[in-house]
Amino acid sequence: MALCLDGRQLAAQIESRLQACIAAGLAQAGRPPGLAVLRVGDDPASGVYVANKEKACTRVGIGNHGAHLAAGTPAAEVLAAIQRLNADPAVDGILLQLPLPAGLNEGPLLAAIDPEKDADGLHTLNLGRLLKGEPGPRSCTPAGVMALLAAAGIELAGKRAVVVGRSILVGQPMALMLQAANATVSVAHSRTPDLAALTRQAEVLVLAAGKPEMIGAEHVSPGAVVVDVGIHRKPEGGLCGDVRFAEVEPIASAISPVPGGVGPMTVTMLLVNTVSSWCSRNGLANPLGDLLP
Ligand code: NDP
Repeated sequence: MALCLDGRQLAAQIESRLQACIAAGLAQAGRPPGLAVLRVGDDPASGVYVANKEKACTRVGIGNHGAHLAAGTPAAEVLAAIQRLNADPAVDGILLQLPLPAGLNEGPLLAAIDPEKDADGLHTLNLGRLLKGEPGPRSCTPAGVMALLAAAGIELAGKRAVVVGRSILVGQPMALMLQAANATVSVAHSRTPDLAALTRQAEVLVLAAGKPEMIGAEHVSPGAVVVDVGIHRKPEGGLCGDVRFAEVEPIASAISPVPGGVGPMTVTMLLVNTVSSWCSRNGLANPLGDLLP
């Protein structure tokens, strides 16, 4: 039976570390860390995600400075809200919840977020820092995957890793982080011929194609570590990932479930980026550095 890469359990452990870190620095900082989740419009899935993030902040003691703007808010007003949060000394992390309503272009708005307060780690400057191995906020989902692998004691140096998916949100930063950990990395995408031949070479296989249950036993070598980033709502109810779990679990040496694998880690890394920013903005040593690959 494969080892379960349990994101819920690890997220709870990291939340305890965050609570301790905040308690230790509170006197010197004079205020708790603050995260602002900026939501525009009424996308229902976003409503659930934002509520989860706010609950997680409350659990660890991060102040919530979020705002919810109406769907028809002009770009200039959204920009002004971001600029106010950039200037607010009580805010250490800013997240613009995507997708934005039709008519709002996310590019210039994401670029307007102060890179030092970029809780999502997706600002162009921070992606460049990741590429160059410089410190900075890290993209939450791939950083969460790295934390799951590290907590399970999975050695990456010298391993053959394959990432399926090349998005800026997941696949590209994932490949950079695995490479920085000295894995030899291949990235597959929709134009990759004979995907199964490539994925069978993987000792560590990360799936972020966004295709429900596309990966089966024929894609996985015995003993591989399998991390499933995909999240999909099944028509009959419940969630699944990119992997056919029941088929792959008996072959893999370790596997992340959906739900309860990468998902909880994504939210936790948002908190890690926020608390790390709070530490650096208040001259505190950051005890969370091991979580920022
Ligand atoms: P995107 O749709 O932006 O990217 C998907 C990538 O997969 C693309 O690079 C695409 O290739 C590639 N791809 C699609 N089909 C295939 C295929 N048949 N074979 C090989 N590659 C393929 O998705 P995201 O990266 O944003 O998200 C991926 C998944 O992860 C989604 O299910 C999303 O819901 C989930 N997710 C989960 C999170 C979590 O917290 N657990 C957080 C973020 C995302 P090409 O570039 O050629 O189009």
